[in-house]
Amino acid sequence: MNVISMDCPQCGARAFVRSSRPLSNTMRELMFQCRVLPCSASWIANLEVARMLSAGGVPNPNNPAPLSGRAELERLIAIATSDPRQLSLDHEH
Ligand SMILES: [Zn+2]
Repeated sequence: MNVISMDCPQCGARAFVRSSRPLSNTMRELMFQCRVLPCSASWIANLEVARMLSAGGVPNPNNPAPLSGRAELERLIAIATSDPRQLSLDHEH
């Protein structure tokens, strides 16, 4: 299992999340605490969805995170192939 960690901004030791809370559906606030004595510094960091690599099978129109170039291409293809008004490029004779 992967555990979110980051280096302590004070002493540089690896620190881990002690608690977290959602700020929105794309951002979470994380509280870190350094485990090294006598440092024991604590701080708040934000974890935010930077961009979507894939829109997934259940796209959310209210998701403000931008799509990566490939995900945007997949979204446009899905729209083009699902719109019945779209002319087909396949020809049947
Ligand atoms: Zn520290």
